[in-house]
Amino acid sequence: MKYLNEFNFKGKKALIRVDFNVPLDKEYNITDDNRIQAALPTIKKILADGGSAILMSHLGRPKGGYEEKFSLKHLVKHLSNLLGIEVKFADDCIGASAVALAKDLKAGEVLLLENLRFYKEEEKGDEEFSKKLAALGDVYVNDAFGTAHRAHGSTTIVAKFFADKICGYLMQAEVENGNKVMSNPQKPFTAIMGGAKISDKILIIENLLDKVDNLIIGGGMAYTFMKAAGGQIGKSLVEEDRLELANELVQKAKEKGVKLLLPVDSIIADNFANDANSKEAKSMEIPEGWMGLDIGTEAIKEYSQVIENSKTILWNGPMGVFEMPNFAKGTIEVAKAVVKATENGGFSLIGGGDSAAAVNQLGFANDVSYVSTGGGALLELMEGKILPGVAALEN
Ligand code: AMP
Repeated sequence: MKYLNEFNFKGKKALIRVDFNVPLDKEYNITDDNRIQAALPTIKKILADGGSAILMSHLGRPKGGYEEKFSLKHLVKHLSNLLGIEVKFADDCIGASAVALAKDLKAGEVLLLENLRFYKEEEKGDEEFSKKLAALGDVYVNDAFGTAHRAHGSTTIVAKFFADKICGYLMQAEVENGNKVMSNPQKPFTAIMGGAKISDKILIIENLLDKVDNLIIGGGMAYTFMKAAGGQIGKSLVEEDRLELANELVQKAKEKGVKLLLPVDSIIADNFANDANSKEAKSMEIPEGWMGLDIGTEAIKEYSQVIENSKTILWNGPMGVFEMPNFAKGTIEVAKAVVKATENGGFSLIGGGDSAAAVNQLGFANDVSYVSTGGGALLELMEGKILPGVAALEN
């Protein structure tokens, strides 16, 4: 694998796959520019070397043709401000206009291409489409960790048309931090799994059972475990078709000597709303008509203690419906415990869209070891899978 630091971009046009899939409001203002910020070091290094940058990304989920709300032109002004130069824009990612703009690009300049997913060929990994993209640059850089688990044209196939394919700073940091946790973690190693469903996280949980000392479960997925163990969970979120699986995971944890922690108590509500009536209850004894929306006081205490005594922590998924302030406490307190463990010399990796959003929203991003920009990509890395976007840089 060739890394950015090992390469001098002087006189080169770098075709860079970035992940600029940022949220926009109705007026097309960027509401969270973390992903753009995360790509800046790579772009700046290339410009500082005396190279130029051709940026390509997807935005949202267009149906395969132009859609105003998914146009990357909405990002040009903000990106120009961040880089302190006027970023050029090609209103097509391939074709005559893109070719002409790329050809004219001078050292120190940046060109942003229109949304790759306006072409269905991108997600299909079409060779011809990828070849046209490749023709725009001299060297290929992939810094889009968020899409590294997809074998798309711009993330994977395009690499085969370049002699020089280079791993960007963000991609490098993501993979190194992911491997730090999965390859040689300092013990005790605690994984915190939350969020809505077990079904999304079965593979990662199974893989983690071979590595962790403690597996903490929170969020909606906890109630499937509770029901499977014979508990009363009222109208809490449950995956009826995963009850058996939940029991199997509990059994496997036991066999492997992993301490699996479920929330002994919950904050329950009579409605899925911030202003619902709420109270505390044992998670196994939730009355009819009520649902668990956050972990309770006892669970917070138990979880915090385990987390604070850990040397490696992986956190994916909130402990409750943290978007509603009345059900955010469990997630906030767990975040504080992760911060404490980090202050005590532990390594903490926060991954997945919602847990990263929670940590950013709560203002703890600088107090943990690493906040991943990848959702699905990080999960797949944690599942032990080879990411096609990373593999394509290795050959
Ligand atoms: P995920 O994308 O699987 O990480 O799930 C994150 C979502 O799970 C967030 O939007 C949370 O609001 C939601 N969530 C967390 N805890 C619960 C719960 N107890 N009941 C319902 N939804 C939950």
